[in-house]
Amino acid sequence: MVRLEEVAEGCPETTRLYLEDAYLREVEAEVIRYVPETKKSGYLVLDATIFHPKGGGQPSDTGEVVASDGSRFRVRKVLEAGPVVVHYGQVVQGDPPTGRVRLLLDWEPRYQVMRYHTAGHVLDHAVLSVVGGDLRSASAFHGPPEGYIEFEGELGAVDPRALEAEANRVVGEDRRVYAIWVGKEELPGKVKGAFNLSRLPDLPRYRVVVIEGINAIPCGGTHVSRTGEVGKVRVTGIDVSGGLSRVRYRVE
Ligand SMILES: [Zn+2]
Repeated sequence: MVRLEEVAEGCPETTRLYLEDAYLREVEAEVIRYVPETKKSGYLVLDATIFHPKGGGQPSDTGEVVASDGSRFRVRKVLEAGPVVVHYGQVVQGDPPTGRVRLLLDWEPRYQVMRYHTAGHVLDHAVLSVVGGDLRSASAFHGPPEGYIEFEGELGAVDPRALEAEANRVVGEDRRVYAIWVGKEELPGKVKGAFNLSRLPDLPRYRVVVIEGINAIPCGGTHVSRTGEVGKVRVTGIDVSGGLSRVRYRVE
C-alpha cells in the first residue's frame, strides 16, 4: 500500500493554476515523480496542475495527462498531501508519464462544480439575508447531483422559496465573481458575510472569493466569473437534525 505522504515527500509545492484561472482546461507541466501502485495504476506529482483535489467542499477533478510519446495517464482522483497535489490514476496507453506532459481537464464535470460552488456562496448570502443572526457554518458540498451548505444549530422555520428567490435575484444580476489574496491582518476587514473565521487554518495569506457587492468568503475553490453563469438555483430541501441544519440545492 502506497502512502500519500511518502509519494509527496521531498516534492516542491505544486503550483495550483486553478486558483488564478478556473477556466484553464489544458496546460503543460513537468513530471516531478511517479510512484507505481500496480502495473498500470500509480501516483503522479507535477510541478503545476489545473486539477482541483478533493476537499474544500469540492469533489476531485478528473482528466488526462498526455506525454510527448503519446503515453496517456487517466486521472481518476486528485488528493493533497500538505502543499503537494497528488494525481492518482491509470496508465491507459504506453508508459507512465515522464518529462514534459500535457494536462487535459474533464471540463464538463468541472464547470458544473464551478456553477455549484458559486451557487453555494450565493446561498450563504441568501441564508444570511433571510435568516439573519449569528450563524456558524459546519460543512458544505458543491457538486452535482446535489450540493449543500450546512450550519450549526437550527435555522428554524425558513421558507426554501425565500432562499431560492434571493439566490436567483443575485444570479439574475450577473454580478462579477473574482478572487483576491489578503494577509492575515487584513482578513477581518476584507471578508463580508463569511461564517466563523476562527475555524480557518493559520496561514500567512488567504484567498478570498468575492461576489461583487454580495459577500467575500475565504475559499480555495473554483468559481464561475459571473453569477449569471450559475443558471437557476433550486433549494431542494432544508434538513434539521443532530444540531445541524442542511440547506440542499441544485443548479439547473
Ligand atoms: Zn467556497
